[in-house]
Amino acid sequence: PCESGNSMPWFGMDIGGTLCKLVYFEPKYITKDEADAEVETLKNIRQYLTKNSAYGKTGHRDAHLQMDDVCIRGRRGTLHFIRFPTSEMGNFLALARSKGMATLVTTVCATGGGAYKFEDNFKKEVNLSLAKFDELDSLIRGMLYIEMTNPCECYYWADPTDDDKCQKIPYDFSKPYPFLLVNIGSGVSILTVQGPNDYKRISGTSLGGGTFLGLCCLLTGCNTFEEAIELATSGDSTKVDKLVKDIYGGDYSRFGLPGDLVASSLTDVYSFGQMNSKDRRNTVTKEDLARATLVTITNNIGSITRMCAVTEKIERVVFVGNFLRVNPISMKLLASAMDYWSKGTLKALFLEHEGYFGAVGCLLQFTG
Ligand code: ADP
Repeated sequence: PCESGNSMPWFGMDIGGTLCKLVYFEPKYITKDEADAEVETLKNIRQYLTKNSAYGKTGHRDAHLQMDDVCIRGRRGTLHFIRFPTSEMGNFLALARSKGMATLVTTVCATGGGAYKFEDNFKKEVNLSLAKFDELDSLIRGMLYIEMTNPCECYYWADPTDDDKCQKIPYDFSKPYPFLLVNIGSGVSILTVQGPNDYKRISGTSLGGGTFLGLCCLLTGCNTFEEAIELATSGDSTKVDKLVKDIYGGDYSRFGLPGDLVASSLTDVYSFGQMNSKDRRNTVTKEDLARATLVTITNNIGSITRMCAVTEKIERVVFVGNFLRVNPISMKLLASAMDYWSKGTLKALFLEHEGYFGAVGCLLQFTG
């Protein structure tokens, strides 16, 4: 569908409910013909994108994720990863226009709901046509490509419950199938993947990253995801949740519940169960509330994922999506939930480019 075929610039865009992910391919070598033909505008755009790491007030380039010397459609180059809030789309389009994007004859490959919502704006404001691709096709294509291209893309958390020993270990994902793919964005989608073109969305939940951020802002007055995670990092969810031990008076071992389960389990805390008490409410901190919100949302996702894995008889689960960005608390919780409830047979895997696969998958589909 991308009529412009090989002509630069190559972009892939995933316009989600919360974040817009933009992947830009910077060619390493430019042929003489291209250099002759390259208009000043294109050169300026390339320099603007690759030399900066902040764009306007809210755009960021994740320089740590940059991939050099990758090969796409026979061209060598660098992949750049850029994100901004979808709510800033108006400003993004104005910026793109001011950089002369509207003067280039080009098509941008796009996926996500925003590819539909903003299609007219792209056309009217920057003269860009969007070639739209299926969200899940793009997600899987992008993740398989990045995983194959980057040797240390896939990892797991060893000793996820032990803060001192816990560490990231590379995982060999060269024989991936079958696996469960859990995409935690604003909401959550769970897919079974049996082969590169053989997948099915089997479940999901509306309680995802958007719920965490929304509730956290309501409960603590914070304004950003980064702030919410920072609060959660120093909070204690057991000040907010009701623990089984509170109910059984501590002697819960008689009921077959091991003591160490209580603090970390999925079902043996009643999330927010202490907040009906005015006294308790008066003693909890913002940090505790942020932590409890994070743990509640994460454990719910862990619980649904585990049920899916059991039903589908699949042992490897790959978690992706920007909810996991700068969020080791949730990754470790998911890892220990998978370990614990499966007695080690279920493996929770994570990927470095967590939220960018849809955008990458789009870029890969940039064919004439
Ligand atoms: P979507 O495609 O639905 O926008 P993403 O995979 O981009 O989904 O994930 C969005 C979620 O990521 C948010 O709901 C939030 O929990 C989390 N998140 C991580 N970083 C940010 C950020 N800088 N701004 C807003 N949300 C963020």
